[in-house]
This record gives sequence, C-alpha cells and structure tokens, in this order.
Amino acid sequence: MIQGRTEGYDLETVPNLKPPAGPEALEHMNLLQGEFWRKVPAYREIDEATFLDHLWQYRHSVKTPKELTDTVQDLVSASFLEDLQAGFYRAPMNVRVSPYVMALIDWTNPYDDPIRTQFIPLASRLLPDHPKLTLDSLHEQEDSPVPGMTHRYADKALFLPTSVCPVYCRFCTRSYAIGGDTDVVEKAELATDPKRWQQAFAYIASHPELQDIVISGGDTYQLPAKSLKKIGDALLDIPNVRRMRFASKGVAILPSKILTDHAWVDALCSVVQRGRSMGKDVVLHTHFNSPNEITWITEKAMRRLFERGVTVRNQSVLIRGVNDDKETMRLLVRRLGYLNAHPYYVYLHDMVKGVEDLRTTVQTAIDIEKFVRGCTAGYNTPTFVCDAPGGGGKRDVHSYDYYDRENGIAVYSAPGVKPNQWFLYFDPLTQLEPQARRRWTDPANHRAMIEAALAQAKRCDAFDLRPVSFASANTEIR
Ligand SMILES: *Cc1c(COP(=O)(O)O)cnc(C)c1O
Ligand code: SF4
Repeated sequence: MIQGRTEGYDLETVPNLKPPAGPEALEHMNLLQGEFWRKVPAYREIDEATFLDHLWQYRHSVKTPKELTDTVQDLVSASFLEDLQAGFYRAPMNVRVSPYVMALIDWTNPYDDPIRTQFIPLASRLLPDHPKLTLDSLHEQEDSPVPGMTHRYADKALFLPTSVCPVYCRFCTRSYAIGGDTDVVEKAELATDPKRWQQAFAYIASHPELQDIVISGGDTYQLPAKSLKKIGDALLDIPNVRRMRFASKGVAILPSKILTDHAWVDALCSVVQRGRSMGKDVVLHTHFNSPNEITWITEKAMRRLFERGVTVRNQSVLIRGVNDDKETMRLLVRRLGYLNAHPYYVYLHDMVKGVEDLRTTVQTAIDIEKFVRGCTAGYNTPTFVCDAPGGGGKRDVHSYDYYDRENGIAVYSAPGVKPNQWFLYFDPLTQLEPQARRRWTDPANHRAMIEAALAQAKRCDAFDLRPVSFASANTEIR
C-alpha cells in the first residue's frame, strides 16, 4: 500500500489505485555505469578520457585472432580460442571489433553472449546454408544505375559512398561489398571515390521523382567530416531531394565518437541545420540490436545529438540468440525510446549466406511483435518487416499472403510496388521439424513445395492476381 499525501490529494482514498510497477518496468533506465572496460585485461590501465577517445578506439579495434587473444588473455579457454581461429577463416565478413564492444562482451560466457554473437564468428556455431540463400540476397546490384547506388523504389534511393564500417557485423546484408576481401568472398569494388559520388548526384538530379536519399555504406561514421559535409550539401542542393538519412551503426558500437570527434558531429549538425533552413529533413539512422549495447556512454552521446537537434531513428535486425525473445526485444525498444532513438524497423534477418545460425522464423517475428506492441508509446513501437528478395520493399511480417509454417515458406506481395509478383522468405532449416528438413535436403522437392505455397497464396488473394511472374531470382521458377 502506498503511504502518502500529495498536495491535498490523499492517495489512500483513490479508487482503483495502481500499485507501483515491478522492477522490470524500470529496467530500461538501468544502464551500465562506471569504467566497465577495466575488467578486460588489455584495458585494465585505460582511463576514461583514453577509452572515450574515438581515435584510440579505432587504433585498438580487434581484427585478428591474435589481437583478440592479446586483448582478453586468460579470460577465455584454449578451446574457445581454437573455435574462434577456425571461425575467423570461414566467415564471409572481415572481423573488426571496437574496444567498446569488446568490453561489453561477457567473456565468462562468450558462447551465449549477444554481442559476441553479432561480431565474432565461431566455427562450432556455423550451420549449413538454406539451399535458397545468396550473398546479395536483396539483389541490390541489379538495381544499380551507377556503381554504389541502388534505385529500386519510386521516390527513394540508396547511396553507398563508402564500403568500410567501424565494426563489421557477421550478418551484414551487403556482405557482397562491405569490408575487405576475406578468404571466402571477393568484394565488389566500392571504395570511397568522389568521382563516383558525382555520378550518383547527377543521376539523382536527373530523376525528379527521387525525394528521399539514404546515405549508407558502409557506414557514414567512416566518412571524414569534410566528405560528410560535401555529400550532405551536394544532396541538399539538388532541388528534388527533400529528405536524407545518414545511416550509421556508430552510435551503437562506438558512441564516444559523438563526444570526442567534434569535427564529424559539427559536419552532421551543419547539414541538419542547413536542411532545416531549406525545409528539408536530415536525420541519422542507427542500428542497435541488443539492450546490452546501451551504456552511460550511449546515453551521453544520444543526449548530445538530441540537444543539437538531430533526429535519430533505429533499425534493428532480429537475430537468433541476440534479441529473438520477447523480454529482450521489449527492453531494447523501451531503452531506445528512453534515449530518444525512435525504433523504426525490426528486420527479419535477410537471407544471406554463412550466418544461418543467426536467422529466425517469420513466426518468431510475429510472436515478438505481438508481445511488444502496446508496451510503450505507439510512435516508439517498431514495425517488424521482411525485406524479401526481389524488391517488394519492407513488408509488415504479418501481411503474408500465405505462410507454410511446416516447410518454412512465407509468400508476400507488394501490389503498390511490384504488382503481380510474389516474394518468398524461407525460414531457417534448423527451426523446422525433422521431416520438413528432410524434404529440403532433396532439390527435387523444392519446386513442388514452393508451387504449393504459391497456389495457396493465389487462393487467399482477394484481388485475384493474374498469372504471376516470380520476382525472386532465387526461386528458379519463371
Ligand atoms: C530499404 C531501402 C530503402 C528505404 O526504405 P524505407 O522503407 O523507406 O526505410 C530505399 N531503397 C532501398 C533500395 C532499400 O533497400
Ligand atoms: S555496420 Fe551496417 S553496413 Fe557495416 S557491416 Fe554492419 S550491417 Fe553491414
């Protein structure tokens, strides 16, 4: 029972008085404090000013098994190190982990740690790919009028000025282009190149329907301040450009750059301010996946951006072992709202090769969305989307035309974007029952399973689509 009186208002007499909420309702404000990095052997002597310095963070990022071993030393077992070594050489992405991220991993249990899972590959955790996976699962290269630019939807386009990131995510959608070559993948050439940028600007200016530009990569954190301002100003100067989003995972994995790289923050803010004076909206899109990524440093960095009038939105990826349970996703969403980072999307993991251990089913996304919706303000509730290959755009996960849960085939359509086409998403095989998994092992079954799902989708379709052409290049059906 609450004791107390507030300004002539006797709480004891209020009917339907609610008891105070339990601790889980406040958990989102409970952020990691102090010099948490000092528990990592290599950072034991590192003071706060050094740890926050973005240049120090870049210089000490872990890129090889040797650097990782030197950093964590006796915190991990010999068998873990072997597993890691083997994982490094089999992964399609480079490895690059900032000290900030290294310090957030629970090294007493690295196998189950949500941050380790995202950035550090372990051979023992790799699973065979679904037979329908490709490297460029979104077929961005097919919609590129100039290199490093994807124009697929009427009024918006994706501009990729750089191919480097402050960390490399194992699950990157653009593993065809991002980072340097690894032992198993030779990347498309997307190096930072102002001449290529001019081509992209000319293309945008010659397409008046293009109003919304996503500047991604790679990661805009890696653009020097001067380049960021140059790109921002050039795009603002194009009359048809009305909205711009700079995309960076930086705030999530190296938040102290916002506090110490004044030139970069000033460049961003100057583009935001100039845009505002021209009636154009310039925002920052970031990419938090785990509530554990958010610390007192993040709060301070986000506060700095908020004070300076930068709108920040967040796009997460739904990842097995990272955020694929209800409580974790609710905590992440509330924590983002608390930081004024609007949760915009949660993506179903793209069908990219080499990271089958990270994917979840469409059903998992549906269940988590149902749980999260209503737990906080509606405008802080993300839309859960599936960006199925073929270019239908991000479809609300609930909006499938048919979902064969047994074989793990979800069928979507996008009547306003690509009429008369179907888009397919395949659940990871390990999440299916044994008999369905067996069916997928024989390629002779694939066509029948997919055609059966499409036939059901057609039956459910109220608009009765005419004979369909199958957009998804990887369905092998024409
Ligand atoms: C995701 C994406 C966009 C932006 O889509 P929104 O749904 O507006 O966030 C634009 N172009 C391409 C090619 C994309 O993949
Ligand atoms: S930061 Fe973005 S572009 Fe870079 S590796 Fe991660 S997901 Fe890919």
